[in-house]
Amino acid sequence: MNDADLSRRSFVERSAAVAAGALPSLGPATPDSAPLKVVCVGGHPDDPESGCGGTLARYAARGHAVTIVYLTRGERGIAGKSLDETARIRSAECESACRIIGASPKFFGQIDGATELTHGHVDAMTRLLTAENPDIVFTHWPVDTHMDHQVASILTIRAWLTLTTARLYFFEVDLGSQTEGFLPNTYVDISSVVERKKAALFAHVSQDGKGIWHEHHEIMAQWRGREIGVPAAEAFIHLNRDNQNLPSL
Ligand SMILES: [Zn+2]
Repeated sequence: MNDADLSRRSFVERSAAVAAGALPSLGPATPDSAPLKVVCVGGHPDDPESGCGGTLARYAARGHAVTIVYLTRGERGIAGKSLDETARIRSAECESACRIIGASPKFFGQIDGATELTHGHVDAMTRLLTAENPDIVFTHWPVDTHMDHQVASILTIRAWLTLTTARLYFFEVDLGSQTEGFLPNTYVDISSVVERKKAALFAHVSQDGKGIWHEHHEIMAQWRGREIGVPAAEAFIHLNRDNQNLPSL
């Protein structure tokens, strides 16, 4: 073993130690751990599954309540079909994916490709998240090439600002072609649920979920896994509300 091996091993061990405690209630089960409420807000059908389907599946498997909020029903996602017909098909795909993950779907009611950031939509998202009363919120990283993803992110951030205790985590989708400038500070080992994540993504038959997995998220899962020394991982940016990042100030 040379010095490079040693430093890499210590980096991986340190990273894994950080990752193990990064998201609440994904460590070893304790009998008195109260169920958490987890809410994920995504722009389109298949975004939450792509970005954090493995993490959501792990939470659901441990008995925590998981809700996925789809900002739109992906109305412009099937060529040659009307918005209404596409919405019906893709809503059913969302419901199938949520069953696989163990989540409850909710539809916010905006239209794919025509999402809007307005005070009215901020108020509606605030009402929705307040009613859900989440402990943990996931949404898109706001620096993204797709405006629908940005709208989902900013609406969620604005709603989250009114919540007092929820932790906010940003997920990545199609890194390199959609999510930009993403430097994660939180990792979740999804090796045990990677087949479930794939199945949830594959439920989006109209979107070639298999193709999306092979082109983007399989590579991302492996790469993020290598960063913490496990076969597959999802990576997040935790927007920290406490003041732990700048010591001694
Ligand atoms: Zn999307």
